Amino acid sequence: MTQTLAGGFAALELHPAVLTAIAAVGYEEPSPIQSQSIPVILAGHDMIGQAQTGTGKTAAFALPLLSRLDPARREPQILILTPTRELALQVAAAFERYSCEMGGVKVVAVYGGAPMGPQLKALRQGAQIIVATPGRLCDHLRRDEKLLGSVAHLVLDEADEMLKLGFMEDIEFIFEALPESRQTVLFSATLPASIRAIAERNLKSPKHVKIAAKTQTVERIEQAHLMVHADQKPVSVLRLLEVEQFDALIAFVRTKQATLDMAELLERHGYRASALNGDMPQAQRERVIEALKDGSLDIVVATDVAARGLDVPRITHVLNIDMPYDPESYVHRIGRTGRAGRTGRALLLVTPRERRMLQVIERVTGQKVGEIRLPDAETVLEARLQRLANSLRPLLEGADEARGSVCRELCQRLDCTPELLAAALLARQTQGQALDLEGVRREQPLTPAAARERSERPERGERTERSGEPRTRRPLEPLTEGRVRCRTALGKRDGVAAKNLLGAIINEGQLAREAIGRIQVRETFSLIELPEEGLERLLGRLKETRVAGKALRLRRYHED
Ligand code: AMP
Repeated sequence: MTQTLAGGFAALELHPAVLTAIAAVGYEEPSPIQSQSIPVILAGHDMIGQAQTGTGKTAAFALPLLSRLDPARREPQILILTPTRELALQVAAAFERYSCEMGGVKVVAVYGGAPMGPQLKALRQGAQIIVATPGRLCDHLRRDEKLLGSVAHLVLDEADEMLKLGFMEDIEFIFEALPESRQTVLFSATLPASIRAIAERNLKSPKHVKIAAKTQTVERIEQAHLMVHADQKPVSVLRLLEVEQFDALIAFVRTKQATLDMAELLERHGYRASALNGDMPQAQRERVIEALKDGSLDIVVATDVAARGLDVPRITHVLNIDMPYDPESYVHRIGRTGRAGRTGRALLLVTPRERRMLQVIERVTGQKVGEIRLPDAETVLEARLQRLANSLRPLLEGADEARGSVCRELCQRLDCTPELLAAALLARQTQGQALDLEGVRREQPLTPAAARERSERPERGERTERSGEPRTRRPLEPLTEGRVRCRTALGKRDGVAAKNLLGAIINEGQLAREAIGRIQVRETFSLIELPEEGLERLLGRLKETRVAGKALRLRRYHED
């Protein structure tokens, strides 16, 4: 597989293996916080970075620190402190992803609520990167005060959150256990006095990095957001497009792969759509933009980089499928519509984790981004009928002269009424698209709340203990130590059985049978227990795997 190394990253002098990993993940260009922080961290300076989740801050410290890591030294070199277990797991997974081409890099996540034994074992087995919550790390330190003696780089991630959770003392205790000579990087969304005091005491002449957020007027553009869960994005996009009256639309996603996947999905649903990303040769990109201008394309799914400077007056809608990194790029994106004094509409999909970013956007733009709901079945049906009527209206004129006699002839041959003939022709024309309320309801994508409810509900045919009792979530079996649960959206309804999943993971994941734990195949998804160690690499090997003809797309499953 050939991957082009993204120009913006290549210029940052990161380790070649890190660059290869970034190219594989599909990042095109460093986000603003990344292009500012990476050179500072690579140069070994202490740093204070003001950035929040969603800006790409994890890679902003992970990429340069990995580039300075010596995989041959099998002792802790990098320590990341995070406020929560979830963030620790997420950051650890990011480090695994970005280091998967380096060889010999081991990451351990250390957090409360899990047994100390395996964490200690991983620490002793030469992990070079520790991602920890402060409380649990202090427990380990009390048992082994030399634990952090070899750490050369410390990152405090979401420092303001850590202080809010009362970790001040623990953090000071950890500082004491670290070598004086270490590099310290502090990331925080806000910089209250308490954070500045910590920085004052523990950082050496830190450089400050902050993304400038200029207020810009976006008054001509009507903005709205829709709350969705990440895995509901494709269906939600399809729903929105059915009811939005757009001329041309540009949709933004974060990776090149996502531009391709989304454009393909839209094409399959009958839209004239194309991807636009930095991997496409210049000439091809220009053809896409020309096609959008002259009306032979209606939707372009782009990354920020590829859409830079795009000026197509026909664009009436901007759809932010993935959140932008910062308010500036949001303003930039939505400025693709409302060109030349026209009005435009900008829609933003927000996952629950990204709520805060939405508030920042509202603050910086000085405008409220109101909430919309997913269109209900009635609205969708009405839109479908309206579209159908609009497309047929111009055909009525002169139809009787041109085709009336054939129509009568066919009714006679088929011994049917003109209504029945029209209905049959319509069925062919609309190709299985539901045109009745029940049918549309059946296609309805799930709202986040309904999706949660459904996943907690026992499946049909499964008995609750006493009928009439409120149904509760089926408890999951406790996990064996060292194993984690992964989820795929393939289940019984896709014709998948446990043995198919097992075979695929053994063959394509190159995993021994014994390494795989319980496999639970449910109606609409399956859960599989897999070894935590090397999980990112395993998921990488299974990236293209298909089971029963469908993409497996295995992901780590977080149970809370
Ligand atoms: P973070 O702010 O670290 O939580 O990152 C937010 C999301 O942005 C994560 O899903 C990252 O995988 C993604 N991301 C980080 N850097 C880039 C980049 N340069 N290009 C595209 N996506 C990125």
